Amino acid sequence: MAQFARVLVDQSGSHAFDYEIPPQLDGKIAVGSRVRVPVRTRTLLATVIEVLGETDARGVRPITEVVGTRPILSPLLVRLAHWIADYYCCELEAAMRAVLPQVIRKGDTGFKTQMFVRLAREIGDSELADLERKAVKQWAVVDFLKSSGEAIPAAQLLKEIGATHQVIGALERKGFVVTSDDAVQRDPHAGDTFLHAPQLVLNDEQTAAFDEIAKAIGSQASSLTRPIGFQPVEAGQQQAGSPPSETGWKPILLHGVTGSGKTEIYLQAIQLVLDRGQTAIMLVPEISLTPQTVERLKSRFSAAQETVAVLHSHLSEGERHDEWHKIADGRARIVIGARSAIFAPLENLGLIVVDEEHENSYKQEETPRYHGRDIAVLRASFENCPVILGSATPSLESFRNAQTGKYQLLKLTQRVDSQKMPLIRVIDMRMEARKGTALISGKLRQAIEARLAKKEQTILFLNRRGFSTSLICHVCGHVCQCPNCSISLTFHRAADRLVCHICGHRGVTPKKCPECKDPGIRYAGAGTEKVEEAVSKIFPKAVVKRMDADTMTRKESYRETLGAFRTGKIDILVGTQMIAKGLHFPNVTLVGIVNADLGLHLPDFRAGERTFQLLTQVAGRAGRGDVEGEVFVQSFTPHHPAIQFARHHDCDGFWEQEIE
Ligand code: ADP
Ligand code: ZN
Repeated sequence: MAQFARVLVDQSGSHAFDYEIPPQLDGKIAVGSRVRVPVRTRTLLATVIEVLGETDARGVRPITEVVGTRPILSPLLVRLAHWIADYYCCELEAAMRAVLPQVIRKGDTGFKTQMFVRLAREIGDSELADLERKAVKQWAVVDFLKSSGEAIPAAQLLKEIGATHQVIGALERKGFVVTSDDAVQRDPHAGDTFLHAPQLVLNDEQTAAFDEIAKAIGSQASSLTRPIGFQPVEAGQQQAGSPPSETGWKPILLHGVTGSGKTEIYLQAIQLVLDRGQTAIMLVPEISLTPQTVERLKSRFSAAQETVAVLHSHLSEGERHDEWHKIADGRARIVIGARSAIFAPLENLGLIVVDEEHENSYKQEETPRYHGRDIAVLRASFENCPVILGSATPSLESFRNAQTGKYQLLKLTQRVDSQKMPLIRVIDMRMEARKGTALISGKLRQAIEARLAKKEQTILFLNRRGFSTSLICHVCGHVCQCPNCSISLTFHRAADRLVCHICGHRGVTPKKCPECKDPGIRYAGAGTEKVEEAVSKIFPKAVVKRMDADTMTRKESYRETLGAFRTGKIDILVGTQMIAKGLHFPNVTLVGIVNADLGLHLPDFRAGERTFQLLTQVAGRAGRGDVEGEVFVQSFTPHHPAIQFARHHDCDGFWEQEIE
């Protein structure tokens, strides 16, 4: 009986076409295979989404050829793509594009190969001496290979002992050596050495959380008997985070204050999964995918010769190609990456970790607009493996899911080093404005001075987003809000109107504050550059550095600046959210949040939530060493709940008022 394949032609939208599987391709095509098919007069790449016994399509033509020796997409990833297309309302082809990296889809980038030379057989001393007399150049090659004991790239032989291709060719003809073209890995971390970092002994709180995670890992069905077939998901049948409940499967929300040792728990959980012969994915926000983070993972697993694959948007095409194949071939069992790494072609998945699960960068802002965290939960439910969502400040939706029992909640309330949470002082900038201070309040200035005197370091943080879009009164702190939607109105300069970006309400731009009638109402905010300038002027002797998207344009600048800061060459680091995440600097005892209002009055219903999360994260940067940290939050709206609850480190309190 003739077999047919239903395929989705690349860039073709959601309409699938049927093709015949010709006899010579019999048995070589399955769901997820990449194929070339004739379309009118051209041959195009396509993905097989179904294999059929019959078709009622007419004029069916045969598949031209199959790409690769096995399906490139697993049935599970095809199933994820179907779900994404359905849930996020996009074409199936668009979802397919997200699931498979472009460089793999194109299929025309291969491995980089290089010619290697190795000895063809054992070569005795007398034979070697003979060769030395007759052809000294050939002797040098054989001698080199013999003492190194492994295959050596021809290029290296040329460089080190001047052996040309003629010399190697002659040796090959005589049967001394053999050559082969072997693939070389383009490893984004080649040349880095990773010292092994042993497991730490977990403290009581960590142990309690880890035990629960270990229980979830241990209760997985045996991976070998787990059926992962392709089942198209019908609309509305399955929602992210609501898989079949009878299995007892539940995502785990790990809520642990900054520095409570969440990462250590992830690492040990990953180890547990590897010991079971399974694989693991760890998602981190793009911005936290720093050399430091990757290093921590690589150094933990380096002793066991475990290969860690890294996937993020700054890889070259070649690197991405090689990392992807490293995973698909089973050479890497651990994947760390940003959002799209959730589609890593790992088999036998035993654990997914989503660090900083509240981060908005998990949401893709272009089609398909999927949320990496939600896809992680979905994939874990398909794979029937545990998923850990970790954060110091979980998102409202995850918090809600934990409250209603959809997620299992695990808590870490103490810092590992039993350091107290830093003291947070809120500075009322309305008072400062009256004194004529613009950017740095008197109190913050004194605090910085004290740090400079003690040779301790300061971080000044400024969230630049929302550059002067909202109107704020510097006298009373009044912010112009939409009367219908309680979000901040956005100032449109050309129209000279205040506009609500939710309901479209338009209002006149007040010439004075509607609340206190002061004519000083103005746009919120200066940028990091201005702060850097001001701080340098106030403290001419201090070394001030700025870290934001504008100054970190080169690949190495991030590493360099952080290195200089760590070694104490910088006194004050001014930066955007780039410096807010997961960095450890023991000598930082002061964090100043220059303008907490910037993010707070954005026209976004999540503005309060994000500000609370950001303040908590940034505050976590202070006092990681022996000295207690201090945080100054400058704001014109110091009584806002996001600021007040962050000040008291009260997550639960904040959520309760915000969930409304
Ligand atoms: P989080 O991810 O919650 O911010 P980390 O896992 O990064 O916390 O831990 C903070 C610091 O404490 C790290 O330097 C880590 O090496 C250390 N640490 C974590 N767990 C332990 C432990 N059980 N014993 C000693 N040090 C630990
Ligand atoms: Zn409105």
